[in-house]
Amino acid sequence: MKLMTSLLAAAAISIASFAAPAFAQDKGTVGISMPTKTSTRWISDGETMEKLFKEAGYTPDLQFADDDIPNQLAQIENMVTKGAKVLVIGAIDGTTLSDILQKAHDAGVKVIAYDRLIRDSGNVDYYATFDNFQVGVQQATSLVQGLKLDGATEPKNIELFGGSPDDNNAFFFYDGAMSVLQPLIDSKKIVVKSGQKGMDQVGTLRWDGAVAQARMENLLSSNYTDAKVDGVLSPYDGLSIGIISALKGVGYGSGDMAMPAVTGQDAELPSVKSILAGEQYSSIFKDTRELAKVTVGMVNAIMEGKEPEVNDTKTYDNGVKVVPSYLLKPVAVDKSNIKDVLVSSGYYTEDQINN
Ligand code: BGC
Repeated sequence: MKLMTSLLAAAAISIASFAAPAFAQDKGTVGISMPTKTSTRWISDGETMEKLFKEAGYTPDLQFADDDIPNQLAQIENMVTKGAKVLVIGAIDGTTLSDILQKAHDAGVKVIAYDRLIRDSGNVDYYATFDNFQVGVQQATSLVQGLKLDGATEPKNIELFGGSPDDNNAFFFYDGAMSVLQPLIDSKKIVVKSGQKGMDQVGTLRWDGAVAQARMENLLSSNYTDAKVDGVLSPYDGLSIGIISALKGVGYGSGDMAMPAVTGQDAELPSVKSILAGEQYSSIFKDTRELAKVTVGMVNAIMEGKEPEVNDTKTYDNGVKVVPSYLLKPVAVDKSNIKDVLVSSGYYTEDQINN
């Protein structure tokens, strides 16, 4: 009996050691906290990371927070309690995470700010994002192109929209855009007819398309009953759709009312189709697969005790520290190149775009 027991035990050990590689490969849990599912970009960010982390031997714990701050806090807290080794966070409000990040830090958890900078905390180790100032520069450059200023005898009327004021990126987009637009405003080539400028006046809380639509409707009824708007700086496709709806509502895009040049960001499918249909003017393509790749690379380096690769160590001051960052390059897309860029990079298939 004793022999039998030890034989069984030996068999169990050998089965366990046979099965061991699967466990040995588990490099630990990575908590991935994404802000929302309302925009497809965040779904694809989350899902790409989930896949890449699995392939690299980690156990990803992917959560979406429905744009609800307490929800995101609870999800992150839960990740820390369950023993995540690293947190990858796309914050809803970049200023609300200090307490939970302190807890994470005390438990030895490393933190990567994903796409959006986490502010007011010393416990943010790295930041993976796109060159957000450049996104704004590209949006405004494309807007100016759409305005066709060359040869214009009258100033062109534009309106400005900003992103969510609790998202650090929104200020970078806006500042980047204004670096292009302000000189043209100063030289009276373009006019912001409503006079509404600055993130405090043009910000759009939670990047909400319905809020942008309502604001555009107000702008139109208060400033454009006897004038035409020629362009709208929109920082995100989801806002552009609301803005375009408001414009169509008063007749733009039909008869002699040309659709104003409306910018965007993220190259989301409905906006890609709108660009091809000649409604939205442009968008900014940010390959979220690349961002996911950079992030997984950062986590790998951290877990191996190495320094992750960064390419910017001076831009992103979060109020407590300058967070070492890796910035990817955004790409401006409009009707002339959007299909080529998106299909050749495999971001969308031709079918997705055409149907
Ligand atoms: C991202 C943009 C996105 C916006 C709204 C920003 O933080 O950088 O890509 O359009 O959030 O989701």
